[in-house]
Formats: sequence, C-alpha cells, structure tokens
Amino acid sequence: MLKPSWHAGVLAAFFLGWGWTLAPGLARAEAPIWDGNKVQMQSLRLAPGAFAHVPADAAALNAQGGAAATSGGLIVGTRGALLIETMLNRRLHDQVRQLAAKAAPGKPLLYAVNTSSHGDHSFGNMFLPRETRLIQHEHTAKFIAEHLEQDKAFMLQHFGKGRGIEPIRARAPDILLPAGGKLVIDLGERQVEIHDFGFAQTGGDLWVWDPQSKTMWAGNPVIAARPALPWLLDGKLVQTLATLQKVYDFLPAEATVVPGHGVPMGREALRWHLDYLSAVKQGVQGALARGLTLEQTVAEVKLTEFRGYALFDWVHPGLNVPAAYKDLSAK
Ligand SMILES: [Zn+2]
Repeated sequence: MLKPSWHAGVLAAFFLGWGWTLAPGLARAEAPIWDGNKVQMQSLRLAPGAFAHVPADAAALNAQGGAAATSGGLIVGTRGALLIETMLNRRLHDQVRQLAAKAAPGKPLLYAVNTSSHGDHSFGNMFLPRETRLIQHEHTAKFIAEHLEQDKAFMLQHFGKGRGIEPIRARAPDILLPAGGKLVIDLGERQVEIHDFGFAQTGGDLWVWDPQSKTMWAGNPVIAARPALPWLLDGKLVQTLATLQKVYDFLPAEATVVPGHGVPMGREALRWHLDYLSAVKQGVQGALARGLTLEQTVAEVKLTEFRGYALFDWVHPGLNVPAAYKDLSAK
C-alpha cells in the first residue's frame, strides 16, 4: 500500500536536488513504497521489436492510483538493440538486461538511454557493457556529474539502505543531446528518434520515439495513466504544459505511450494530464487576477474532479499549485 509520507520524502529529495525549500516534516522516511530488492520486472511485447519493461505489479498499482516502480523498454533492429532506462540498482538492471537478451537473442546492446537523471532511471548505467553507448541529455549529464553523491544520499534515505544504491558510481555518457535536440539512431532497418521537446520535468527530459511501432517512451513527465498526476518538481507549469501539448500533437492517434512508472497507455490518456495542468493554470491565473495570496490560492484551487491519485493531497496542494503560483506570478 501507499505510504504518502515516504513519497513526500522522495519528493523532498528531488526538491533539494533542484534547490527547492523543504517543508518541515516531509523528509521522514518509512519503508520504501517500492522495494528495489523485491520489484519484479517483466517484458511486454508491444509490436515486433518493441518491448515495454514494466514492474509486475504496475497495472494493479496504476489502477488504484498507487505508485509503481520504474518502467522502461527495449527496441530491436537488425544490428542490435537500444535499452530505455538502466534502473535503480544492479538487481533491477540485471532483470531488464535478461529480458533484453531474451527479446533480442544474440544481438548486441548498442545503446542505452536515460530519460532523466533520476536515480531509478539511471543508477544502473555503470552495469552496462563497455561497448554499449550511453545517451543522455546534456542537462542530465551535468546534473549527475555535479550531484551524484548528494542524489545517492537522498535516494538511500528514501529507498532504503541495502537496496544496491551504495555502490553506484557515474558512468560517463557517450552521446549527449543538447537542449532542444533530436537524435536519430540506426538499429539496422529501424530508425529510432530521441527528442527533447522542451522542459517537461527536469530540463533534461528525453522522449524515445520508435516510428515503426509508433511507441513513445515518456519517462517521468508522464508518471502513469489517470488518476496519476504530473509532478511539477522544478516548477515551470507553463513550459511543462506546452511540452506535453507538443508531445500530444506529435503523436499519431494510434500511438502507444510507455509512461515512467506504469503500464503502456494510448495517446488520449495524455489528455488527463493536459486537462489537469490547464485547470491548474486557469485556477491559479484567476486567483492571481484577484490578488489572492498563495495560501488562499491553494485553499481555492482544489480541482476535486482530478482526485484519485493516492498522492493527490500532497502533489496537488503541496507541489503543483505552489509551483503554478510561482510560475504565473513571475509573468
Ligand atoms: Zn522515476
């Protein structure tokens, strides 16, 4: 079951990483909500050569509005494969590598991508084969280079000791995407695109698009389908909304989206996230126009029609409304 206080602790870790102020009492860790020693990854075949790596309990957790462990995936061409997300620790990394080996027998792992710097998506980088080329956003590479030890300390505090975080070291990336960049990777009779569509959560947000299977790997900007909500961890409501709209417009109607912490969903499932962010924007703009304080705005912009996510009572009033207030008052 969900333990919001644990999750608030994790949020606090991210906040500190990005320079946010920590509210008192939010940093107390309890048992991890998902345990890096227990999560079992499975591979879902979406189309020929396109696989989602998803925690076995993700579907059930997503449906309850709970929080699942990290999702990722694999794309296979005639020359070799590309892995999306290297996972939190060696154990989970080894699981997705075994799934990859089964899905692409005898083929080399040519590339790996981190959709962000978050440890549950990138700590496994050091376990990649030497010949696998690691792809990161410039912002992600810089963040890891400057903050890995700090990030590990917080991840340890909130994911627990003895979950394989202690030995993590950075592995230098081989290919960097600059801000706004796009990269086309040739896996052999299969061209995979990696996009930066703009700020979506960390500023180092990469989206992996496989035109052949019409699948988009989203990472944390899309946590999971409804009732999960976006987390404006680094503020920037307006940019986040614009980026998600850009992604929605980019996708064909029949596209599959693999979120950062859930089972694959359709393009229309993004509407929930867009509608929510638009409602936050509209509500906060109205409050600002009437000169309301942050406290009054949080009390007023309740958006009960978007309830259902187990973290709603923290993520919405504690994170997203204040982030929107800050962002919109700066305009
Ligand atoms: Zn994540």
